[in-house]
Amino acid sequence: MPGLRFWILIFLPLWAQGQIVHQPLDGVLAVSGELAELRNHHFHSGVDLRTGAVTGKNVYAVADGWVRRIVIRPDGYGWALYVDHPSGHTSVYAHLESFSPEVWAYVLQEAERRNAYRLDLYPAKGSLPVVGGQVIAQSGNSGASGGPHLHFEMRDRESEEIMNPVAMGLLIPQPRARPELWAKQDGRWRKIEDSASVNTWYDLALTLPEQGFEVEVSDSLRSIWSLQQWSFDVQRGADAGLAIDLHSQQGIRGFHIHPSPSQPAPGWKLKHAWPKSGGTYSLAVNSGGSPIWAGRVRVAQPNPGSTQALRSISDGDWSLELPAQCFGMAQAVSLSANGNKISVKPDVAAIKPVTYSWTPSQLADSLWDKAYLAVRDGRGSAKIPGSRSADGRIVFTSKTCGSAEVRIDTKGPQCELLRRDPNGRVWISVRDELDSEIVEITLNGKWTWGHLDLKSNSLYADAGITKGKLVVWVRDEVGNLTNFTTEL
Ligand SMILES: [Zn+2]
Repeated sequence: MPGLRFWILIFLPLWAQGQIVHQPLDGVLAVSGELAELRNHHFHSGVDLRTGAVTGKNVYAVADGWVRRIVIRPDGYGWALYVDHPSGHTSVYAHLESFSPEVWAYVLQEAERRNAYRLDLYPAKGSLPVVGGQVIAQSGNSGASGGPHLHFEMRDRESEEIMNPVAMGLLIPQPRARPELWAKQDGRWRKIEDSASVNTWYDLALTLPEQGFEVEVSDSLRSIWSLQQWSFDVQRGADAGLAIDLHSQQGIRGFHIHPSPSQPAPGWKLKHAWPKSGGTYSLAVNSGGSPIWAGRVRVAQPNPGSTQALRSISDGDWSLELPAQCFGMAQAVSLSANGNKISVKPDVAAIKPVTYSWTPSQLADSLWDKAYLAVRDGRGSAKIPGSRSADGRIVFTSKTCGSAEVRIDTKGPQCELLRRDPNGRVWISVRDELDSEIVEITLNGKWTWGHLDLKSNSLYADAGITKGKLVVWVRDEVGNLTNFTTEL
C-alpha cells in the first residue's frame, strides 16, 4: 500500500515535532490577541484565546509531558503553567484561575514551606506528568490581564524562544484584517492611497506587523520583517520599530517599514541596502504573499543621522543619563527640573533603561528610602521606587521618558474587609500608592494561603469554614508594612 506509506512519511515528522494533539480549550477557538501583536513596549508573545468573558473554563494540556514550571504572581502572567514536552517544546498557559488538584497540592505545600505568596516553582522533572487532553487548570483573569481569557504560548524548550503555535496545530482562524500603509506628510500621519511624499523612510509605517511583511524599493527586495520565532530580547524591538507619533496622533500602532538605526530585533532580514539619497522611488509592500501597497514615494533625506552616544543632561538637582543607542531613532532630549518635578522632552519610550538621579537639597534623611518616581510618557506610566547611591543621590531606573515627579510614601497599604464568599475565602481590599505584596497570612496562628490581585487591589485569604482570628501582613514597594486583623 504505497498510499499508506506516503501518509506515514508525511505525518511522522509532524508527530516528532510535538504537534498539538489536543486544543487548550473546549469548542471552536476564538482569538482576542494575535501572536506578535504590537503592544505598548512589547510584542505579544502568545495567542489570547477567548473564554466567553468568564473564568473557570477547563484548560487542557496540548500534548503529553510534565509540568516544568509553576508561577503565581500578582501581576504579569498571574497564575501560569509551563508544560514541557518530549519533542523539545514548552506550552505555556497564563492568567489562570486555578490549577488541577495534583498541581495545587504541590503548590500549597511549597508555598507554606517557603512562607511565600509569590511563587516561581520548578517541580522535579516527571513529578507532575500530564497527558495530552488532561485538564491541568481552569482559565481565569489573573495577573495583568484585561479580562477573562487564556494566554497560550508555544516555546522552544532550550532557548525559550517564542514559536508560532499555529504551525504546531493550534486551530485558530486566520486574521481577516489586512495591514495598511501610513505615511507622515507635513507632520500628519495619514493612510496613503497611491503616492506619498515623506521626509525619511521612517515616516512610513505598516499596521498589523504581526502578519509579517516584505518591502521592495525600485523593484528590488530590500527588507523582510517576520516574527515566526523570537527571543525575549526582541521585545525591545517593539519600541524601536513603533511609529510613536502615529500612535499618539491617531491611536494606531504602526511599525516602521525600514529597520530603525537602533533596531535590535532580529525579526528583520535585510536583503539589499536601501537607497541612501533623496528621490522618487517605486515602493511595494507585501504581506502574507499578497500585495498591501504599491505606488511611488518621494523621500527627501532617506538617511538621517543615527548615532546616539551616551549622554548625561542635567538641570538643578536632577540629572538624566541616556545610554548609547537608547532610542529607536536619534532624539534631541531636553530636561527641565523644578524641585521634585521634571519634564523630559520628547516623551518617547527608551529601548534601554535610562537613569534619573536626584540630589534633594531638603529631604529628611529618613524619607530617602520612601521616595518613588511617578513617570508618564506618551503611552504609559510607571512608579519606580528609588535607591540610594553611594555618592548621595536617589536613583530611579526606567524605560519611561516623560514628565515625572518624586513622591514620598510613608504609609503602609490600607486594608478593608470586603466579604466572605461561599468558598470560605475572606476578601480584603488593599490600597496603596505603590504595588503591594502579601508578607504573611495566619488564621488562629496557622499559616494560611491567600492571593493578591494588583489590578483589583484585593486579596483573598483561604479561611475555609474556620472561625477565629485572621491576621494579614501586607507591604508596599518601599517597605511600609500593614497588619490587618479581623475576627471571623
Ligand atoms: Zn496574552
